[in-house]
Amino acid sequence: MTTTLLDNIGQLVTCDPSVGDGSPLGLLGDAAIVVAEGRVVWLGPVRSAPAADVHVDLGGRTVVPGFVDSHAHLVFAGDRAGEFAARMSGAAYTAGGIASTVRDTRAASDDELEAGAARLVREMLASGTTTVEIKSGYGLTVLDEARSLAVASRLTPETTYLGAHVVPAEYATDRDAYVRLVASDMLDACAPYARWVDVFCDRGAFDADEARTVIAAGTARGLLPRLHGNQLEAGPGVRLAVELGAASVDHCTHLVDADVDALAGSSTVATLLPGAEFSTRAAYPDARRLIDAGVTVAIATDCNPGSSYTSNLPFCLAVAVRDMRMTPAEALWAATAGGAAALLRDDIGVLRPGARADLAVIDAPSYVHLAYRPGVPLVCATWKDGVRA
Ligand SMILES: [Zn+2]
Repeated sequence: MTTTLLDNIGQLVTCDPSVGDGSPLGLLGDAAIVVAEGRVVWLGPVRSAPAADVHVDLGGRTVVPGFVDSHAHLVFAGDRAGEFAARMSGAAYTAGGIASTVRDTRAASDDELEAGAARLVREMLASGTTTVEIKSGYGLTVLDEARSLAVASRLTPETTYLGAHVVPAEYATDRDAYVRLVASDMLDACAPYARWVDVFCDRGAFDADEARTVIAAGTARGLLPRLHGNQLEAGPGVRLAVELGAASVDHCTHLVDADVDALAGSSTVATLLPGAEFSTRAAYPDARRLIDAGVTVAIATDCNPGSSYTSNLPFCLAVAVRDMRMTPAEALWAATAGGAAALLRDDIGVLRPGARADLAVIDAPSYVHLAYRPGVPLVCATWKDGVRA
């Protein structure tokens, strides 16, 4: 067993409140970490660090848990730069633009889909993201959803079946038949590659009854529920997610008090996706309202070619601080431990003995610089499973 000592860490963010300053970020100064066999085996002050086989001097930089991007749509072909330009010229965003990506995705080979998704995963690693959830949802046929998930499953264990992304054009006059397909044959083909089942429950996508049907079929097949809800308008998504015991409900942009109350009384994480509001020039979700109510909040990229084509979680973190009234500490927690909670994981998003040795090295004296210096590529190294990526 080779042990590696990472030392001379100026500031170590553990997200373990039982160590360091006792805050939710569990901050330690002048720290070191020892990793072996993909796991953290020790962390603490440099002066008491044990000997190790390999020694890496981090030069006083900051170390944070690897970012956990708990919401991304990476399996697709083509892009929608023209739609983005039109939107920035005043056109409105609707869920309907997904149809053009569906056409391109169906026409692409498996190799093309995998190459595109792998490129985005590499971008994510370069910006400090060590875990990403990847959804299907641009195939919308039995074959195309199944091969999308097969591609996703080669890149991450956090795969999500999103056959219920939108109703494809060929089912426009018989949406009930499409919901039945998503809940039966398409599910059967996709379930072997998926951990999660998701529905886009919003205006222009699926209503509460349709979402309930799909989620019930997915959970009967052993998949775990999560939902897209309340992105485009205040609707039933959030309360449905809580009712169904979803690990996370994602977007949460338009909330009424009953939504906030339901989340606060549940273990469902509110995953906020500021890249979507940024890229659609829409009003941001109110993270402050959720946090003050006691809701667990995560931040993810929603990386997709239509409404949020960024793979950069530090950028989203900076937007969350600037425009969603989060503190830098809350936003970092939401992009690490919060994302882990949204994926029901306790081995990532945190640095403590036994956790995965997934971490990002920030070329700055404190984590605050992640929000304070938006757009600057401060992540100078990413370690995944104890190996520098
Ligand atoms: Zn999404």
